[in-house]
Amino acid sequence: MGFIIFRLIIFAALVWVGIRLLKAYNRKKLEYQQKHVKDKKEQSEQMVQCRFCSLHLPQKDAVKHEQLWFCCHEHKQHFLDDGPEQR
Ligand SMILES: [Zn+2]
Repeated sequence: MGFIIFRLIIFAALVWVGIRLLKAYNRKKLEYQQKHVKDKKEQSEQMVQCRFCSLHLPQKDAVKHEQLWFCCHEHKQHFLDDGPEQR
């Protein structure tokens, strides 16, 4: 009888440790995902200005030429050909 109780205690301890490990693992995973999403968000929300038409747009949608940003390839080409848009 004492042996069965001993086994139950061991079993309960194992389950308890298992649940704790699982929770710790899930928390780490969640932290990693949140950090990852945050990094991605920050990167995509970086705004740049088109040198040709002064439009602001997310860096991920912009076209880069050396140190200059453009909203599209057409504006990059116009800028390189004619300089900034005359207003
Ligand atoms: Zn533009």
